[in-house]
Amino acid sequence: MRLYPKLVRNLFLPLSLWRNGELAQLRYLHEFEQTQFWSTDAIRELQWQRLRTLLRHAYAQCPFYRLRFDHAGLTPDDLRGLEDLRALPILEKCDIQEQNKEMVARNWPLGDLIANQTGGSTGAPVPFYLSKDRKCSRAAATLRHNRWAGWRIGDRVAVIWGAPRDRPSNSWRARLRGALLREPLWLDTANITEASLAEFHTALLRYRPRIIQAYARSAVMFARYLQVRGLTPHRPHAIVTSAEVLEADERQLLEDVFGCPVFNRYGCREVSVVASECSAHSGLHVMAEGLYLEIETPHGSAAPGEMGSILVTDLLNYAMPLIRYRIGDVGAWASGTCPCGRGLPRLKRVAGRVTDFLVGCDGRLVSGVYLATYVVAQRPSLGQVQILQHKAGAVTYRIKPGRDFNRLHDLEYLQKMTRCYLGAETQIDSEVVEDLPAEPSGKFLFSRSTVAPDFLVASK
Ligand SMILES: [Zn+2]
Repeated sequence: MRLYPKLVRNLFLPLSLWRNGELAQLRYLHEFEQTQFWSTDAIRELQWQRLRTLLRHAYAQCPFYRLRFDHAGLTPDDLRGLEDLRALPILEKCDIQEQNKEMVARNWPLGDLIANQTGGSTGAPVPFYLSKDRKCSRAAATLRHNRWAGWRIGDRVAVIWGAPRDRPSNSWRARLRGALLREPLWLDTANITEASLAEFHTALLRYRPRIIQAYARSAVMFARYLQVRGLTPHRPHAIVTSAEVLEADERQLLEDVFGCPVFNRYGCREVSVVASECSAHSGLHVMAEGLYLEIETPHGSAAPGEMGSILVTDLLNYAMPLIRYRIGDVGAWASGTCPCGRGLPRLKRVAGRVTDFLVGCDGRLVSGVYLATYVVAQRPSLGQVQILQHKAGAVTYRIKPGRDFNRLHDLEYLQKMTRCYLGAETQIDSEVVEDLPAEPSGKFLFSRSTVAPDFLVASK
């Protein structure tokens, strides 16, 4: 029975990686499998070695970082340990938006710059580049963290997601590749109706995936539907949730409905997987071989348990270094060691972004993540946006304008796109604001809806 996954693991995947010049992925996976069990001190030493090399490279090759060092009156050799990194200023999203080209390494081959950009759920989109080698180490990191949830290469996986950009293409080559490599079953949550939830249910029963990977909100929405309709779902080995805040009662709901453990994950487009739960479910282990994380409070580094702003330094992306980058989420360190024996540091909690589904005039549901990515992020002049909803088919936009904001054209765009996704009759209000601060808990509300769609109301 387990022959096919073995074929994928040992033959089809290596062949496909070899063909794409991405065999480094397997080398990184092998490395990360070993280093995760190193002692905390050994991992910190590895981070320091990597940080020192990165700083020297950034100083020599990136005009932006050369200036940062010069302004601080430092050279990379003045830094003697990880803690000394605090001498450099924090890298904000706006720095990347404004100084993008100056951050790319001068000696980096243009053919090895892979362009990417963030979604719009915590602010205006941020464009960035990574190298092919970093693409491989990111993929390897994801595979390692998947394995903590009992997910092996070649297993059947279903993805409950609302981001077509992540989705494999639909050409025959891509379909063949997908079938051979057992790429996931995609259940698209960009636009949900009761009928599409019923289809998810049957598709999962038919496909019987070992793992379900989902946006937290999408999984919760699906679980509520199954519960209200009294349906017995396919029971996977585990559910991996990411991209959004997962509250304790929501985790409980998922575990009750699907009868399996939930592994929460925290990541972002800029650096991929940041931290994940292991089977001890005692905080989230950081992907420390590739990322150096700091948690910053107004009075300095956060003590264990103390919430602060998460700063990340990508230790493996030399194409466009990100050093002390403020992701826009807040979190706190866990203290003590994890029973699993891994020396990777742990986050106790992360208060990420809230991206509720929005309800259209006809009762359809549209994922907040989808709107953030495909409506707001496509229009940088909108800046930072928040969507509030208290009535089906009506939304209020709160806008902290970007640099080239044009009230007439930008609001017209929002109106057109909103009606396109939520329905032609949608009532749209908007207000321009000075600031969109995070909640006192640190969570950033991108979309908040207090409306329950009809089909999720139990008495119906
Ligand atoms: Zn652990």
